[in-house]
Amino acid sequence: MPLLENHIAVVTGAGSGIGRAIAAGYAREGARVVVLDVNQPTAAETAQAILNAGGKAESFALDVTKRGDCIAMARQVADKVGPVSILVNNAGIARRNGMLGENEAVIKDWEDIIAINLSGVFNVTHAFLAPLRASKGRIVNIGSIQSFLHLKTPSSPAYTASKHGVLGFTKALAAELGRDGVRVNAIGPGFIETPLNEKVRASNPELAKTFVAHTPLGRAGKAEDIVGPAIFLASDLAAYVTGTILMVDGGYLTV
Ligand code: NAP
Repeated sequence: MPLLENHIAVVTGAGSGIGRAIAAGYAREGARVVVLDVNQPTAAETAQAILNAGGKAESFALDVTKRGDCIAMARQVADKVGPVSILVNNAGIARRNGMLGENEAVIKDWEDIIAINLSGVFNVTHAFLAPLRASKGRIVNIGSIQSFLHLKTPSSPAYTASKHGVLGFTKALAAELGRDGVRVNAIGPGFIETPLNEKVRASNPELAKTFVAHTPLGRAGKAEDIVGPAIFLASDLAAYVTGTILMVDGGYLTV
């Protein structure tokens, strides 16, 4: 039997990269997937690809920074789709201005990255909390290697702070919701080739080489590499797993 049969799964930022791959993977495992993205056309493309493959999906535009929209979306999904039992908080952005960069850019990075990568996780979780509690649901948050350290690749302090925050939020939520039967975990991707880092890979191939040289498995990741771990954490296979982060980084953090 497919691992996610009878589940309704919401995936944010599912119009691209890791979110799109997770949405497709969940649909293959029998879930009905609610594809959310700030970018409506790409969300619709993901949902259409799932339908074409024989899965169940619908798509809606959602900017995770807008708390009121998240609450309205939760109502809309409850009315039009049904009770959500899986939430993947995946939407995120990365920028590479250090703290000593141009002042305006540093401040804008802080505001945008914290709003999307951290407050966005709070907003969507808060909005879908009632159905998740009622269904003894599962939450999977997308963290990073930078949930533990700061990469000088370069990266922004805002990105590092946001991903440390995602891990902290994951633990706090797991502790509070455990008695309701809700499991909350994170995934920590390493360097995964997606549109998020397309420009930097093209402009600075040395950076990718340095990263891969430090990675025991000796290659960059693909979005598909995140899918199995995301299915595992959302499924009954992980029935006694909560409050943890599963690193999917080719071993990067171990050396
Ligand atoms: P991606 O291909 O850029 O996909 C991210 C998606 O999120 C895009 O569709 C983006 O839309 C959407 N998004 C951006 N702002 C949003 C908002 N305010 N509300 C809703 N959706 C929004 O990136 P990815 O690599 O798959 O990243 C997915 C997650 O993995 C992120 O949380 C990222 O931090 C994390 N991660 C990635 C890597 C990696 O190496 N790729 C490593 C560690 C962690 P637009 O394209 O229109 O902006």
